[in-house]
Amino acid sequence: MEIQKPIAIVGGGVAGLTAANFLKQNNIPFILFEAGNKLAGLAASFTDSDGFSYDFGAHFVTNRLANAIGVGAECRLVKHYGEAVWLKGKSYSYPFGLLKIPRMSLSFVSTRMNALGRKQTPSLASEWFSQKYGRALAQEVALPLIEAWSGAEAENLSSAVGASLPGSIFKTLYLKTASLITGRAVACGYNKEMPESAGVWHVYPNGGTSILCKKLAEGLDDYIKLNSSVEEILVENEKVVSVKVKGEMYPVSAVISTAPANILAKLVKGSSALKGAAKFRYRPMVFVNLRFTGRDLLPDTVLWFPEKNFPFFRLTEVTRSMPWLAPEGKSIITVDIGCEKDDEFWTMNEEKLVELCLQNIVEVIPDAKKRYLGYNVLRTPIAYPVFLNEYEKERKDFSKSTNIDNLLSIGRNGEFSHMFMEDVYWRTRKKVNNLINHKVDDKIV
Ligand SMILES: Cc1cc2nc3c(=O)[nH]c(=O)nc-3n(C[C@H](O)[C@H](O)[C@H](O)COP(=O)(O)OP(=O)(O)OC[C@H]3O[C@@H](n4cnc5c(N)ncnc54)[C@H](O)[C@@H]3O)c2cc1C
Repeated sequence: MEIQKPIAIVGGGVAGLTAANFLKQNNIPFILFEAGNKLAGLAASFTDSDGFSYDFGAHFVTNRLANAIGVGAECRLVKHYGEAVWLKGKSYSYPFGLLKIPRMSLSFVSTRMNALGRKQTPSLASEWFSQKYGRALAQEVALPLIEAWSGAEAENLSSAVGASLPGSIFKTLYLKTASLITGRAVACGYNKEMPESAGVWHVYPNGGTSILCKKLAEGLDDYIKLNSSVEEILVENEKVVSVKVKGEMYPVSAVISTAPANILAKLVKGSSALKGAAKFRYRPMVFVNLRFTGRDLLPDTVLWFPEKNFPFFRLTEVTRSMPWLAPEGKSIITVDIGCEKDDEFWTMNEEKLVELCLQNIVEVIPDAKKRYLGYNVLRTPIAYPVFLNEYEKERKDFSKSTNIDNLLSIGRNGEFSHMFMEDVYWRTRKKVNNLINHKVDDKIV
C-alpha cells in the first residue's frame, strides 16, 4: 500500500499497541488515539497502599507471549493453575473430578461414541455443548455457565460460543497431566492461533499485565495521543479518508480500530458496510476484589458456579497461582458478576455488592466474614461478546472483513471474539501485515 498519510490506530490496549509496535518496526507512519488518560485498556493493572495488586479481572499470561513482547526475563513462573466446579455444596476439580461422577462420565462416553462419524456442527449452543461434553455435563455445568456469562438463554446463542472455550476434554487431560509432571501451569484454553503444548505455560510480569503494554509502547511516545477519542471515521467511495478527533480532521491512509465492533459501526460515516455489526452486544461485568487473611481459601484457583442461586458465576483466588499479588498470609478473591447495564448489580453500591458476595461465599469459606479485610470494585460494560443467534450471519461476515479495504477491526472487542492476549497479539500482527502488504493469508509474523 502506498503510505504517505499516517495510519490511524483507534485504542491503546494490547491490540492497538501491538499494531503500533509492528508499524514502527516496518517504518510505516501512524498515529495512535486513546480515549482514556492511560494505555493498556482491559490489560490495566492496579496496586493499593496495603500491598495488594490487581488486574482487570484475573489475568494469566503465557511465557510465549511474554518472550515475544520482550518481557520474558521480567516474569515469574506460575507453578499451578487449576479449575473446579461447585455443585450441590461440593467442589469437583475440572476435568478429572467431574469425570469421576458416573452420570457425567457415562453421558460423555456415550456422546463421544455417537459422535463418531458425525460431521455436521450444530448451529445452536445448546446442541453443540450436549454433543461435545455429553448431556449431563452440558445441562448441569456448561450451559448454565454460558448463560450466566452471556446473559442470554442457551437456545438463543450460536454454537460459536463454544469456540472460545478450551479444546477437547482429551487435550485438556493431556495439558493438565503435563502441568502435574512439569510443575508449571501449562496453559490450557488460552491460545488458538499458536499450538497449545507442554512447552507453553503461565508466567506473570512483575508489575502486572500492564507491563506488556508498557513494553509494546516503548519509544512510541511521539506517536501516541491520550485523552483523544476518535469521534468519526470518514469513508468516501468505500475507502477511509480521515478521522475526526476532538473536532479536528486527520487525513489517514487507513484505520486500524480496536474499539468494540458495535461502536466502530457507529463511528463510520459515509458507508453502510458495518451496519450488521451495529447490533452486536457485549456482556457488562462487575468484578469485586475481596481481600482476606489466609491462603488457599478456595479449592483451586478458579471456582465455577453453574447453579443459579449464586449471584456470581466465578470466583478466582488469583493468589493461589500468583502468591506475590498479596502480602504474606493474605489473599485476593475476585468475584465475577455478569450483569446488564443499569440492572440491580451494575447500579448496586459497593458496600452492598461486598455484603452480597460475602453472604454467598460463606457456603465455600464458612469463616469468610471473619477473614475479610477490604475490597475494590471494577466495572466494564464490554467484558464478553455475546454470540446471539439473531446476528450470527452478520458475525460471520464481520469475522472475515469490515468490507472496507483500508479499515481493520482488531483485538478482543474489535474482532467481537472472546480472545486472550496471546491470540490478540498474533492475530493483530498477521492482520496488520496483510493490510500493509495487500495480502490475505494466515501466516503468523
Ligand atoms: C474478565 C476478563 C479476564 C481476562 N483474562 C485474561 C487472561 O487471563 N489472559 C489473557 O491473556 N487475556 C485475558 N483477558 C482478555 C484480555 O484482557 C483482552 O484480550 C485484551 O486486553 C484486549 O485488548 P484490546 O486492545 O483488544 O482491547 P482493550 O483492552 O479493550 O483496548 C481498547 C482500547 O481502545 C480504546 N478506545 C475505544 N474506543 C475508542 C475511541 N473511539 N477512540 C480512542 N480510543 C478508543 C479504549 O479506551 C481501550 O483502551 C480477559 C478479559 C476479561 C474481560
